[in-house]
Amino acid sequence: MPTSPDVVVVGAGPNGLVAANWLADRGWSVLVLEAQPEVGGAVRSDRELDPAFVHDTFSAFYPLGAASPVLRSLELERHGLRWRHAPAVLGHRWADGWALLHRDRERTAAGLDAAHPGDGEAWLDLARSWDAYGDRVTDALLSPFPPLRAGVRAPARGGPHRRPRPGAHAARPGARPGP
Ligand SMILES: Cc1cc2nc3c(=O)[nH]c(=O)nc-3n(C[C@H](O)[C@H](O)[C@H](O)COP(=O)(O)OP(=O)(O)OC[C@H]3O[C@@H](n4cnc5c(N)ncnc54)[C@H](O)[C@@H]3O)c2cc1C
Repeated sequence: MPTSPDVVVVGAGPNGLVAANWLADRGWSVLVLEAQPEVGGAVRSDRELDPAFVHDTFSAFYPLGAASPVLRSLELERHGLRWRHAPAVLGHRWADGWALLHRDRERTAAGLDAAHPGDGEAWLDLARSWDAYGDRVTDALLSPFPPLRAGVRAPARGGPHRRPRPGAHAARPGARPGP
């Protein structure tokens, strides 16, 4: 390490480490300073409860991390990263069971239908309304601000009649999504 690095990154959380690695990959000399004895910030894991058991210390699940273009570009799998997927992405408990969200939308719909016939098709309809945007929404979330490119491309693909209305669905949790 040169005595005077090109860049000093303060904090070895995920953002500092991504920035440091991205710059180092491009030939910059980088010094990372971390106040804690371990790197990782709020995504650090630990074995302090039981040496045989790795647990999260703060954050726990990273869908946007797995989708992040900059994280993918670092090819962390070559350095030991393995993404693990839970059997169901998430669940919501109700009086007589669970609503489970699976990676397979048909499976999610089947579960919803079993509890409340018709809800499965409503779910599929809502999912289809997002198909028009899908990766464009992810691009907009994960690209530098302001996400102009992803934002401009999105309407062209879906058209106004298929545009998802997350606010509308959130405001009317019991309502069926419209066409
Ligand atoms: C309880 C909790 C649960 C969360 N759950 C999730 C989740 O499930 N999924 C998800 O995606 N996100 C989750 N998050 C958010 C996620 O952890 C943060 O977005 C992420 O850690 C931010 O990364 P960062 O590098 O910006 O900051 P941090 O992770 O906070 O890292 C900052 C680092 O900088 C160091 N530092 C600070 N000041 C100095 C200094 N002056 N000198 C040297 N070092 C310094 C700190 O010690 C730390 O290591 C959660 C956060 C918390 C707190």
